Amino acid sequence: MQKKIMAWMLICIIILSAPQLSFANKYSEFETVELTDTLTGKTGSYQPVSLMIRGEDVFSDTPGIAIDGRTLIPISSVFIELGIPFQWIPATREIAFESNGKKIVMQINNPYATIDGKKVELPNGVSPRVMQYKGADGKLIDRTYVPVAFITSVLDLSVSWIADTRTVAINRKAQTLSAVDLFWRISATRPYPEIRLKVSGEVDATSFVVRGLDVGEKDKTIIELQNTQLSVPSSAALKDGVYTYNVSDGIFGIEKVEVAQTSTNPLITRVTIYQNMRRGHDISYDSKTGEMVIRLINTVDQINVREVFGTETLVIESSQNPALNYTVSKNTLHIDVIGSYLHHNQGVPETQILGQDRIKSISYRELGSEMYGLDTVRISVTLDKDMTMDDFFQETIGTQTLVYFPSHKLNNFQYVKLNNSSATMSIDLSQETMYSISYDETMRKLSLRLSKDVTYLDAFNYPTNDNIIESLRVIDADTHYVIEAVLAPNTSYEHTGTMSMASFMFVNKTIQNSTYRDTLIVIDAGHGGRDPGAVGTLVQEKTVVLNSALLLQKTLESRGFKVYMTRSTDEYINLYDRASMANGLNATLFVSIHANSHTGTSANGVEVLYANPSMDSDKGLATAIQNELVKHLKATNRGVVQRTNLVVLRETKMPAVLVELGFISNPAEQLKLMDENYLKLAAEAMANGIEAFLK
Ligand SMILES: [Zn+2]
Repeated sequence: MQKKIMAWMLICIIILSAPQLSFANKYSEFETVELTDTLTGKTGSYQPVSLMIRGEDVFSDTPGIAIDGRTLIPISSVFIELGIPFQWIPATREIAFESNGKKIVMQINNPYATIDGKKVELPNGVSPRVMQYKGADGKLIDRTYVPVAFITSVLDLSVSWIADTRTVAINRKAQTLSAVDLFWRISATRPYPEIRLKVSGEVDATSFVVRGLDVGEKDKTIIELQNTQLSVPSSAALKDGVYTYNVSDGIFGIEKVEVAQTSTNPLITRVTIYQNMRRGHDISYDSKTGEMVIRLINTVDQINVREVFGTETLVIESSQNPALNYTVSKNTLHIDVIGSYLHHNQGVPETQILGQDRIKSISYRELGSEMYGLDTVRISVTLDKDMTMDDFFQETIGTQTLVYFPSHKLNNFQYVKLNNSSATMSIDLSQETMYSISYDETMRKLSLRLSKDVTYLDAFNYPTNDNIIESLRVIDADTHYVIEAVLAPNTSYEHTGTMSMASFMFVNKTIQNSTYRDTLIVIDAGHGGRDPGAVGTLVQEKTVVLNSALLLQKTLESRGFKVYMTRSTDEYINLYDRASMANGLNATLFVSIHANSHTGTSANGVEVLYANPSMDSDKGLATAIQNELVKHLKATNRGVVQRTNLVVLRETKMPAVLVELGFISNPAEQLKLMDENYLKLAAEAMANGIEAFLK
């Protein structure tokens, strides 16, 4: 049996290594797509179909389509996502795979398949076929298309059709959730809350966090159990279909937990955990008890080495503020993150050889609970030579831990952004001293002179990226350091220091007193992570739109808006989750940023998509933004376009638009989209449009 699996795996690996997996999820942005049936040579225009497997969006280099009422999807999307090996037999143009010990064979353009040699008709007689699609780069791509309904039925999976967004959702067979148990203090060795959900069988769970604390709300951790029927015995806590479990003393910073059936097609049960404190989470299936287990525990999400202030630095991203213990052994520093699970690298232990100047390697693994009585993640950093506790220093900023390995001096300088409108700067002094402060009104320049006898600093430009300080640098001036801060317009400073610490508080009054201070705009940079979006010759859509989104964030914040980003790094967020974030925060407006593409290089210009035709909702916002974009960018006006099946426009409950900033497939426009000044103009334009709509 083992051997057989290996053979299947080998076939799968061969197929996988073929250069066909340049994923892109552009099609949902298009009204129709054109494909040619390679058998008949007929070209048809189809509405694209999106695919979700186990609650996650799936991408492929050609779109899913519907033919004769049946959905056909590229073979790799379904089999590779499900982790099921399949075999392609070129001589007979057959696709073979196994399910429950049965051998299933389909053939291109044959409306019949065989199951263990027995002939069966495919649903509606829709056969697998090879379709040709013209990619954005003009290349012709031939892909094998298979009918979803037949494959999911023989694989014993469930499939649902979400007509609103033209999405096919494939899941494990439906299960029932029959009990919810909350444990707040498990035991001394498990001092984290646990939510146990009794299920009739394992289900797939997806999750995301709404970082409400960032914008003055509560954090919410949302876990969605896919294809799960909620059937908990009725209780007093049930109201409007929502089971509420209050946590009386707000222990662990948790206020309440809600469990509800939030969707019937597909069937989704949602668990929402309201938090007054940032918490991490981990989800697993306990096969012994038949429970899905949600643990509110810190998770170590990312570990990497990068240069910060010209210093080799280990950066640990956690889901909450972690407890840390440092020990040194010869040339290795062990950092124990106590009360945590490893999520980075999918929890798989690894050693990375880095060979930097100082850091030679890093490794990480889960230690178990023996050493500290709590689950612990150990991260070890090996340096070029033996070290002591004085050879590094650590700083915690929110949920991020930075461990610096400076080659010479320690840095006593700190700049901390407190919120949108205020920040502090401080410099530790080794002895009490007098120091001089001067302020140049016209240049808005604050200067501080410190003798080198009282502190150690490195000369550097601090990369401030906020609306409080425009530039910040430390200048080495012989016997002194000069710290020079250029304040943003309307920022004031206050000296809050003492003789042993030089410190300042900065406040941007425009932002602090803004009429928009309670207006929350959710900015959604399209695509990200495994989904590059449109792929240009020089740049990918996901990169352009993130740059644009970050500039829009800065512009809106400088005008006093509250801003929430669905993503601010190169990561993929599910489309439904993006909309849920905005809904969960009761955002005022939602703006999704994308770049367009087309086969051929001539298409150009900007357009804004909307779903609701009312002028005081989506269409009004789209029109206001489009007008400003055309004016500022002097780009071709493609107008505002109604599109009713886009998830982020359809599922959001506030005025929502999707901006197509320009064509990445047009060489001249691609260059513009890569130009920061052009994106700054676009950000100004979008912000103007938002203000015009709100007036
Ligand atoms: Zn896009």
